[in-house]
Amino acid sequence: MSTFNYPPAADITKTPAHQQSAKHNRILIVEDNQLNSKLLKQLLTAYGYEVWESPEGLQALDLARDEQPDLILMDIRLPGISGLEVTRLLKQDDQTRTIPIIAVTALASPEYEKKGWESGCDAYVLKPIILDNFLRTIESFLKIGA
Ligand code: MN
Repeated sequence: MSTFNYPPAADITKTPAHQQSAKHNRILIVEDNQLNSKLLKQLLTAYGYEVWESPEGLQALDLARDEQPDLILMDIRLPGISGLEVTRLLKQDDQTRTIPIIAVTALASPEYEKKGWESGCDAYVLKPIILDNFLRTIESFLKIGA
């Protein structure tokens, strides 16, 4: 079962005007689950975002530094270094500290959420994703029409 409430195909074409203006924004997805990453990429691409994917943290660090995405969606459970550690490293690096990071995780306990905030993430979103809220959270960190 997917951890995302993936919208029916027909809904993807109903792109509100304020979301169409997001088309120049670039998002890095850090997610080790290939299916989830693919679904997220399809979804965000359909909404006009340019998307990169990374299945693990060290590659994500390099991509963030080299490509300077406008936003990062960060899974927490990753092979190798965790998404929290990746977040902490990105927030300590002058090259990447201003990039908003949204932690996306099924880890729902207050303890994990506290760890998420302590790592320096800018928002903490639980799986399964509620699509409308999720897109609004993303938009809230992006300069629309920039
Ligand atoms: Mn994971």
